[in-house]
Amino acid sequence: MIIVLARDATEADIGAVVQEAARTGAAPAVARSGDATVVRVATDGRGGVSGRLRALPKVRGVVEGDLPYVLASRDFKAEDTQVAVGDVVFGARRVVLMAGPCAVESRDQLRLVARQVKEAGARVLRGGAFKPRTSPYAFQGLGEDGLKLLAETAADFGLKVVTEVMAPEQVELVGRYADMLQIGSRSVQNFPLLRAVGRTRKPVLLKRGMATEIDEFLGAAEYVLAEGNDQVVLCERGIRTFEPRTRFTFDVSAIPLLKRLTHLPVVADPSHATGAAFLVPAASKAAIAAGADGLLIESHPDPREALSDGRQAMTPDELALLAPALRRLAEAVDRTL
Ligand code: PEP
Ligand code: MN
Repeated sequence: MIIVLARDATEADIGAVVQEAARTGAAPAVARSGDATVVRVATDGRGGVSGRLRALPKVRGVVEGDLPYVLASRDFKAEDTQVAVGDVVFGARRVVLMAGPCAVESRDQLRLVARQVKEAGARVLRGGAFKPRTSPYAFQGLGEDGLKLLAETAADFGLKVVTEVMAPEQVELVGRYADMLQIGSRSVQNFPLLRAVGRTRKPVLLKRGMATEIDEFLGAAEYVLAEGNDQVVLCERGIRTFEPRTRFTFDVSAIPLLKRLTHLPVVADPSHATGAAFLVPAASKAAIAAGADGLLIESHPDPREALSDGRQAMTPDELALLAPALRRLAEAVDRTL
């Protein structure tokens, strides 16, 4: 249950709510953002508790599961949240370009691509070390060796690292090497994992699941926020529809819709959304036009030889050609890149 207080609630008003909520036997938690306050308590509304809470002064509403999120909502926090990954800020005027291979394959591959994506204007290096593959026989990633290559390569080229963490017990390890923790589509409702990254203070890149409704997606973000980590960037990466010509269907309207509902930054992944390198430029432009705060693009020095997602990987040359067009587009919507 979430109790939303009026913005002018005093400490005494909040104390009265906490006292009443504690009578349920569960421990209430107070969360604040600016002058907004909510009290959360793990109980249902039985025994008249919600009625008693509603009757208290300065209680604006008691939410019992109509929406799975409050902290992530614009009602709770009206102004945009900025998520800082070192000096790279998501949700500011400058659009963030993240690029790199689907999977880290070798030192040579990663250094080659890092140099080229940096030249194209990327500020964050992407690359999977733990890969969520459909088949257990497919390349699963280099694991910790891949993380080491990411950290060392990014440091050499002045880039930040975003990489996927697949399980709660990997969070500590991945957090040692990564600047930003990626939660993949297939993990978007892995609640123990969401809680585990929520207990860190690392920025999180949360990808929408391929069959995740917008409110479910925001509920997933709420799990991270509810643990006290408000550094969450949402990523639209395509949803599954009836159309097999593209790998997924790029839900471009999710970008402005999310930005209306939440204060969190929103980025797009045109590579997984389309599944084909030749579609990535158009989808990237559409994302920026729709207000995306960043792009996550797969790039491989030799896509035909890639160990995963080769069809959707741009060559670094293609990315270098796309970047100036994206820059012009960003300017057209009053942003930079
Ligand atoms: C990825 O970014 O390489 C990836 C596996 O993406 P998704 O979780 O969106 O499928
Ligand atoms: Mn991939």
